[in-house]
Amino acid sequence: MKRRDFFIKTGVLLGSAPLLPVINSSRIAAQTVIQKSGKPVVISSANGLRAAEKAMDLVKEGSDALDAVIAGVNIIEDDPNDHSVGYGGLPNEDGVVELDSCCMHGPTHNAGAVAALRNIKNPSKVARLVLERTDHVLLVGEGALRFARAHGFKEDNLLTDKARKIWLNWKESLSKDDDWFSPEDADKDIKNIIKTTGTITCCALDRNGNISGVTTTSGLSFKIPGRVGDSPIIGAGLYVDNEYGACGSTGRGEENLKNLSCFLAVEFMRMGDLPEEACLKVCRRIADHAKLRSLLKEDGKPNFNVSFYAINKKGQYGAASIYGPRKFVVHDGSKNQLLQAAYLYKK
Ligand code: ASP
Repeated sequence: MKRRDFFIKTGVLLGSAPLLPVINSSRIAAQTVIQKSGKPVVISSANGLRAAEKAMDLVKEGSDALDAVIAGVNIIEDDPNDHSVGYGGLPNEDGVVELDSCCMHGPTHNAGAVAALRNIKNPSKVARLVLERTDHVLLVGEGALRFARAHGFKEDNLLTDKARKIWLNWKESLSKDDDWFSPEDADKDIKNIIKTTGTITCCALDRNGNISGVTTTSGLSFKIPGRVGDSPIIGAGLYVDNEYGACGSTGRGEENLKNLSCFLAVEFMRMGDLPEEACLKVCRRIADHAKLRSLLKEDGKPNFNVSFYAINKKGQYGAASIYGPRKFVVHDGSKNQLLQAAYLYKK
């Protein structure tokens, strides 16, 4: 691509952003608009204490928020003991781990995502390469895997022995009429996991006042192969508007897909809501839209949960769930802590 085409394609010549010196060849560095020095903030889902710590260390050193949040969630993707993300994530109904992730870079309003990606334990890194090294936003399945291979990613069997046993127990407990028997002496922590969700989402405001975010997950456990949730869908599992704020989500992806919830939360912030208010309003909207009988308890309330984690341009933050109490992580530059999220209904 000629240099001029690059700028036209990426909008730099067309927008009002000043042309900055090209630091390296990546689209991010070339276009990062230095806004103002501010106090960095990192927000994450409750499983993200180590991710927030890492992301904060990096933004304090001057990293772009996107680099910081991706390095943060990579720690959780690599952890075999988190069964909701990356290596060690729970598999689909065939026993195969399929991962979803997306990331969004505020200053360039660019995004990258992968869905139903097999064999690669850091889907967030691949999502980031989709953002940086292609003209696309979302790659899925075999295409995503081939793209990762082209970029030199190593393939691994992502199914740990523990995750395999959890899956096998699920399969063996499905029906009394099939030919699979579950052992009576299975460990409790294996037996107790029936069908779970789980994800990590992490957004940061960096020292330049720029916002970026990432969401990464193994999705709904024992899902139908090929099922894609909200986590790799921009607007559903994550959204960033560098002028106003960012929101990431965990929980039942199907409802986030139907409500484009993270986009909505950021829109509420754009209209003046504080992050917590925006997250609560989205929970309310999703609950109001849950009309299928399969989504409702006898009392008419949703039988699922979703959670939102938002920061705004001023570094204010908040989180909310349909059902609480639930916690979320905030690193404000001095303290990295678990805080209580707001909620609509008590569990
Ligand atoms: N949102 C994820 C999905 O539906 C799962 C979760 O966050 O619990 O795939």
